[in-house]
Amino acid sequence: MSTNIRVKKICQECKKPFIAQKTVTKFCSLKCASRNYKKREKEKKITQTILATNQQAIEQSQATAPAVQQGPENGRLHMEWLSIRDVSQLLGIAERTLFRLIKDPAFPKLKIRRRLLFNKQQVLDYFISKSEGL
Ligand SMILES: [Zn+2]
Repeated sequence: MSTNIRVKKICQECKKPFIAQKTVTKFCSLKCASRNYKKREKEKKITQTILATNQQAIEQSQATAPAVQQGPENGRLHMEWLSIRDVSQLLGIAERTLFRLIKDPAFPKLKIRRRLLFNKQQVLDYFISKSEGL
């Protein structure tokens, strides 16, 4: 059996179709492979930065813990980067409604692979500018 099979694939980097020699090949060329690798490295750095800022925010909110008792969910809202769930709680709207709202290309969101993150300040600014337009 020959291992030299030919598979039609779509390059994960440039999205162009190409003929792969192996089923595991994801890119049409070395150039695309290295470009994609660099992109992933950058994403990793962004994720690390976000996690670090969140960690900082948690530490700060713990350091300046108010007398009012806060549940763990409320504590998360101190973070700069929020999930869909956090934002819906922050704004007091249903996640379903939020999913509709974020379809607006102007809605500030950050997509890291399959995760959607929202910068709290940017989201608040977005809603402030929306409400001013009413
Ligand atoms: Zn390519």
